[in-house]
Amino acid sequence: MSIFDDNLIRLREIQTLENIKDEELAVLLEPAQTNYTELDIAGHKFPAWRIVYNRALGPGKGGIRFHPEVSEDEVKSLAFWMSLKNSLANIPYGGAKGGIKFNPKEVSLEELEVISRKYIDYFYNFIGQDKDIPAPDVYTNSQVMSWMLDEFEQRAGHHEPGMITGKPVELGGLTMRADATAEGGYLLTQELAKKIINKKELKVAIQGFGNAGLVMAEKLFKAHYQVVAVSDSQGGIYQETGLDIPSLITFKAQKQSVHNWTSGEKISNAELLELDVDILVLAALENQITKDNAQQIKAPYLIELANGPIDNEADQILIANHKTIVPDILANSGGVIVSYFEWAQNRTGQILAEEYLRNLLQKKMINSWQRVYDKYSGQEAVRSLRQAAYSLAVQKILVAEKWRGKI
Ligand code: NAD
Repeated sequence: MSIFDDNLIRLREIQTLENIKDEELAVLLEPAQTNYTELDIAGHKFPAWRIVYNRALGPGKGGIRFHPEVSEDEVKSLAFWMSLKNSLANIPYGGAKGGIKFNPKEVSLEELEVISRKYIDYFYNFIGQDKDIPAPDVYTNSQVMSWMLDEFEQRAGHHEPGMITGKPVELGGLTMRADATAEGGYLLTQELAKKIINKKELKVAIQGFGNAGLVMAEKLFKAHYQVVAVSDSQGGIYQETGLDIPSLITFKAQKQSVHNWTSGEKISNAELLELDVDILVLAALENQITKDNAQQIKAPYLIELANGPIDNEADQILIANHKTIVPDILANSGGVIVSYFEWAQNRTGQILAEEYLRNLLQKKMINSWQRVYDKYSGQEAVRSLRQAAYSLAVQKILVAEKWRGKI
């Protein structure tokens, strides 16, 4: 089953739960706009997408992924999740996502720049601070955002610094964007730990050691969680007494895989997922937990920093096994919330203090958590935090569509 078909099943569940009419749900069953091309770079073809899923709440907003497995199914699903995430976070955006199918580890820095610029060249007419605003995602970063901004400004001038977020500070970005996704996830982990788990010395395993996973590991380590295992695309490393995360970060910065870290036991990504820990943080890619491994998951609490790491069949198994899952559209929304701060600041020219913005991020994360948790605990038919989050997000989009006279 495709990732998107899985989303449709989840949407239908919300339809039943909230008595949504077919004509109303129809606006959420397919993307508003799909743009596809093959970028031609020195005779090599690079399939590239930019998909806006929904615009009821504002312009498109969502990252750009560079990965050899990028597909239309994946980009469409990521754009759908962005629509729900932005709705739940109460920020004035629809949802969008982009991607280029290639392996960025196999090209030179010069080629990476050409590919990034070519993407903006091709999609220029569809992108802009009031149309669709990209940001970083897997294997893209502030350098890629800088080339993209520069390419855009060669045609548009400096009128729209908010056309892209996740920029470096010198080009109008915010220092705190780099750790925003993990910060949001960390704040929710703290809520869980204090109000629900109620146990000292929590053991954590983290799959994925990039922008989301590495920073999460650092924050949890500083807050005295025992991070016993982490992994990247090469594999994982486990140490029962807790890994020395700061040293591991230095090691990773030397372009090393965490799998080659010498103090600890080498494990596979599959083994990491099945460890007997209190909290499992998923911070890599989609479909990491499926019906094939869901029964083996021991962690009672799962946090989806990645988008879509648990498919729908696995969800059902985990719910039946009384696991608590903090869903992606809530858990990783810190990134897009801070992108919104960057965009708003670029538009007004006002520069706001980081302390003020960090407080605002915290307020927004806790507010979303509270709304989701209240819905989940207050309505018997709501089976999971995911259903609660989806339900709130979908209903808000549909209200906006009604105001617009679209349904
Ligand atoms: P990244 O490129 O910085 O890091 C990805 C990490 O995942 C790397 O450590 C990589 O080695 C690892 N990885 C890749 N394939 C793997 C596999 N098969 N098994 C285990 N690890 C694997 O990307 P990121 O920005 O950290 O994104 C990770 C996830 O978080 C994605 O799902 C992304 O959509 C989501 N996310 C990121 C942000 C953000 O601000 N960066 C915001 C919201 C959601």
